[in-house]
Amino acid sequence: MKSDRRVPVAIIGGGFSGTMLAAQLARRGIASLLIEGGGRVGLGTAYSTAEPAHVLNVRAEGMSAWPDDPSNFAHKFGDPRGFAERRFFGRYLREILDNVVASGLGEVVSSTAVAATPGADGWWVELDDGGMVAAQAVVLATGNQSPEPLGIASGLGARFINNPWNDEAKAAVRDAATSGGDVLLVGTGLTMIDAVLSLNAAEHQGRIVALSRRGQIPKAHADFVASPVEESDVPKGDVLALWRWLRRRSGELGWRAAIDSLRPHSQKLWQSLDDRQQRRFLRHARPWWDVHRHRIAPEVARQVHDRVAAGSLEIVAGRIGAIRDVDGGLEVEIRRRRGSAETRRFAYAINCTGPLGAIERTCDPMLRSLLDGQLVRPDPLGIGLDVDQRSRAIGAERMWALGPLTKGRYWEIVAVPDIREQAAAVAEGIARELEI
Ligand SMILES: Cc1cc2nc3c(=O)[nH]c(=O)nc-3n(C[C@H](O)[C@H](O)[C@H](O)COP(=O)(O)OP(=O)(O)OC[C@H]3O[C@@H](n4cnc5c(N)ncnc54)[C@H](O)[C@@H]3O)c2cc1C
Repeated sequence: MKSDRRVPVAIIGGGFSGTMLAAQLARRGIASLLIEGGGRVGLGTAYSTAEPAHVLNVRAEGMSAWPDDPSNFAHKFGDPRGFAERRFFGRYLREILDNVVASGLGEVVSSTAVAATPGADGWWVELDDGGMVAAQAVVLATGNQSPEPLGIASGLGARFINNPWNDEAKAAVRDAATSGGDVLLVGTGLTMIDAVLSLNAAEHQGRIVALSRRGQIPKAHADFVASPVEESDVPKGDVLALWRWLRRRSGELGWRAAIDSLRPHSQKLWQSLDDRQQRRFLRHARPWWDVHRHRIAPEVARQVHDRVAAGSLEIVAGRIGAIRDVDGGLEVEIRRRRGSAETRRFAYAINCTGPLGAIERTCDPMLRSLLDGQLVRPDPLGIGLDVDQRSRAIGAERMWALGPLTKGRYWEIVAVPDIREQAAAVAEGIARELEI
């Protein structure tokens, strides 16, 4: 049994969200304990990659960790319009965390938080090493959850990689590169792009098939003339009206200018939609929105397109009909959207469908215990936790959530430019509520 600790704020999750909350609290003189269970403290899922090929998908000028100092990261990187390696951004974040720790207002513990129970003056947080933390406030910053296991792949052996961000995925990339075996990537979004870059960097000579229902892949960043819009000029409360507006403006100014003009208003636009409209957006508009809004660096797009042009990467619109283990690989029936079906053999298949979509199915022990104990609840769409406009978990006293966990309320809250604002606002809210 580890010794118990007593802290003003316990932050669960040491990625960008948790790190920046600790930094924002320290600025306000509030001490916190950052609890990170994945060995990625100060980095999180996105910035713990060691691969130089994995670059940011936001230009350096948009990646400052501090909302009140927007050029802070660009200044360190040296090229505001450039796309830094994600590991470079990770070092930047670690430096921020090191400063918090050096100030005496932050401490880090390498454990997984497994449960939290309300106490007389806040919360008891239970760690997997048996330690207990008494905290006046708890912040859930558990971030992107590993992807949902694919039903069709249940029962498959080690050739099907469910988590594209763990060591098994890295080993599979190395092995496929050595053997020259073909690889199936299930999903065609940003996670697929990362996997292609990893295979390229490992000099994989086999073929890659990337498969999703629509076969749409992220678009590239390119220069455009910005055309800001007033919030009052954008239709609210109706996805179809917003869609028509976006199409018309895209025709007039280009889609990049049209989409990016919505950025300052996106959270308000999302909140103007009722549950039914939000569901409609997720069902019909999201695939288009994701590939246009979350763009990739031009040099990354070039690598992907080069591989497509060379015939070693095929992007397929369709679905998996069946998949089974065979000697030394997988046999997969691919049903193309336009009707034809074929059976192909792959050395590996990697689940690139992106972070878990339904919070109820989380495997995170902390979230699981809070949900099962009805101390927190899913948001009405079931994509994150239900939080109020100040990111406080509904139904729980002195518990906040940050980052991707709050996308039901804010939608655009998965990238640095949005999370940094939220971290500052939550730190301010904690200072107010704890009267520190
Ligand atoms: C591969 C990838 C690339 C991305 N690239 C960009 C980019 O270029 N630009 C951009 O703006 N955004 C990018 N993003 C978006 C990204 O979501 C945010 O930038 C940000 O990193 C989210 O940070 P987070 O701390 O909320 O989540 P995460 O990075 O997921 O961190 C959460 C942390 O919590 C820990 N944890 C979870 N549960 C527990 C528990 N019970 N106990 C203890 N610890 C726990 C995990 O180990 C993890 O380290 C990317 C996302 C991914 C997945």
